[in-house]
Amino acid sequence: NPAVLDINGLCVDYGLGDSAVRAVRDVSLTLHRGEVLGLAGESGSGKSTLAYGVTRLLSPPGVVTGGEVRYHPRDGGSTDILSLSPDQLRAFRWQEISLVFQGAMNSLNPVHTVLSQLTDVLKAHRPGMSRAERIARAEELLALVGISADRLSSYPHQLSGGMRQRVMIAMALALDPEIVILDEPTTALDVVMQRQILRQLARLREELDFAVVFITHDISLLIEFSDRIAIMYGGRIVEQARSKEIYETAHHPYSDGLLHSFPALHGPRRELSGIPGSPPDLTAMPAGCAFHPRCPKAFEPCDQRVPVLQPVEPGSGRTVACWLHADH
Ligand code: SF4
Ligand code: MG
Repeated sequence: NPAVLDINGLCVDYGLGDSAVRAVRDVSLTLHRGEVLGLAGESGSGKSTLAYGVTRLLSPPGVVTGGEVRYHPRDGGSTDILSLSPDQLRAFRWQEISLVFQGAMNSLNPVHTVLSQLTDVLKAHRPGMSRAERIARAEELLALVGISADRLSSYPHQLSGGMRQRVMIAMALALDPEIVILDEPTTALDVVMQRQILRQLARLREELDFAVVFITHDISLLIEFSDRIAIMYGGRIVEQARSKEIYETAHHPYSDGLLHSFPALHGPRRELSGIPGSPPDLTAMPAGCAFHPRCPKAFEPCDQRVPVLQPVEPGSGRTVACWLHADH
């Protein structure tokens, strides 16, 4: 599939000048049309910051300090998201890329009904739609996420957490975007509800053919629901491969640690050992490979030089940034 989004050398800092802290370091990543790309990593690894940087939703002092983000619409050409004006960006956001934030289910407006929140999005972006058309579309959107139309008149507090999260997903789909970014979309829900929602989303994706960036710290969910996975550590991507490949053999010791931190739903039981130590302090990043203080396999070059992301084999789509797999 062709690319729908190309991220090139993206850097995001918090703060400016001497006190700036780099949260996303030179990240390059391609999202293909219709695929589910999973972003994994512990909290603080830069996953959310990357997503907010890409969609220009960073709040100060977060600032994109380098790189390029190109969006490729279906009708050809490409747009540099980082150079859109605020007006262009507003139109772009729900229409081409939409986001479901971490904890989004609590961001529904408590004093408005589901109907009015869904139709507000349509009103703002589809001024030509009649009221009847907006209501019909709102019903259709709820049906997509498996909620019956009589819930249109409900207020958020009358819905379960799972339903509120479905409403957020319905809103994200309102304008048929090409890309939906989900940041920890189900973390607040119980395991059964999580999988129910993700299965539904997988069906919708097949039906409507949008691409998904799915962000979660739970790599077992990603293995189940993503086509490809990019693993972040200390603001960098340290491994990127097809989900199946990572599941079979994680090349980066950090990926391997993550795989052993979550119970797998299928397949042989893994021993859960977790990863000793804690994520790096962004204000005092270790020299060389940022993972070296925690890495069971660290050796001579690891605390000296930063390993770059490179193909595991020449021409392979799979990449890893680790001296164990470097040929230079
Ligand atoms: Fe471990 Fe060295 Fe690989 Fe970093 S580069 S993950 S420290 S082996
Ligand atoms: Mg986050």
